[in-house]
Amino acid sequence: MTNLHYSLAGKKIWVAGHRGMVGAALVRQLETIDCNIITATHGELDLTRQTDVEHWMAENKPDAIFMAAARVGGILANDTYPVEFLIDNMKIETNVFSAAHAVGVNRMVFLGSSCIYPRLAAQPMNEDALLTGPLEPTNQWYAIAKIAGVMMTQAYRRQHGRDYISCMPTNLYGPGDNFDLNESHVLSALIVKAHQAKEADAESFAVWGTGNPKREFLYVDDLAQACVFLMERYSADETINVGCGEDITIRDVAQTVADVVGFTGTITNDLHKPDGTPRKFMDSGRINALGWHASTSLKEGIAKTYAWYLEHGA
Ligand code: GDP
Repeated sequence: MTNLHYSLAGKKIWVAGHRGMVGAALVRQLETIDCNIITATHGELDLTRQTDVEHWMAENKPDAIFMAAARVGGILANDTYPVEFLIDNMKIETNVFSAAHAVGVNRMVFLGSSCIYPRLAAQPMNEDALLTGPLEPTNQWYAIAKIAGVMMTQAYRRQHGRDYISCMPTNLYGPGDNFDLNESHVLSALIVKAHQAKEADAESFAVWGTGNPKREFLYVDDLAQACVFLMERYSADETINVGCGEDITIRDVAQTVADVVGFTGTITNDLHKPDGTPRKFMDSGRINALGWHASTSLKEGIAKTYAWYLEHGA
């Protein structure tokens, strides 16, 4: 692992995917640094269209890129739209990497996902677990596309000496999350369900599956801080995990959400819905050793996310 200091001050930084939850958090984080942030909305630039990306990149020539653009979604969306999750993500990645290299962009942080690790990887999962076993079937399409993105960083490093790196965030949540129950990840879904149950004076709300799976949840602004930290200090072929260091069962996180929202009824299980992978707890020892640690507690993060939902999403 190489430690470097790459300063973002004064640089032109493209946040690809700035309308997404992660990209928006990256913009918030970069606004605290003296750099020139550039963005393009989906209407201005469709990242699945190769020549459009080539032209945009040639016109804008960023110094560095945070590659947070992706087609994302929760367990049901992944299972329902395998084509989009595989193909759109592969297109977006190939277009961004090849156009960036063509115009001389030398620094990029690509965001992966903890679902790229094998379904039954030893826990906590460290970076060496990559490609050591079969993937979780419900999100394998997305995982393969993300694995390809990690390999692209390595290929551009090896063949062209580009300083592209990847990091592997655990399950994320926060302001700007998707609160559509058919598309969302679990934490935002639980906020919606608990809120609606409270508003309707309902006796219960249901979590999907058994409630037994465990997940590690990272507040998105903590991730954004980690990405900037890595952009400035990390350079290596190997991907690097970004987690908060604790995981929790879906049952317990549902109860925590209910407590924050103020729902006092019961929580039931919808056993027609999948559990997905039983556990995906990441070993974040390497980024911790470099000096980064998550700072937002789960309760605090849920409270901030609920406040955002009440203002923007409810
Ligand atoms: P995953 O981490 O890729 O499996 O994605 P999710 O965040 O969508 O799901 C995490 C876990 O939460 C899985 O075990 C789901 O079955 C469970 N879960 C419980 N209730 C819900 C819900 O309302 N929505 C979603 N997306 N997942 C839920």
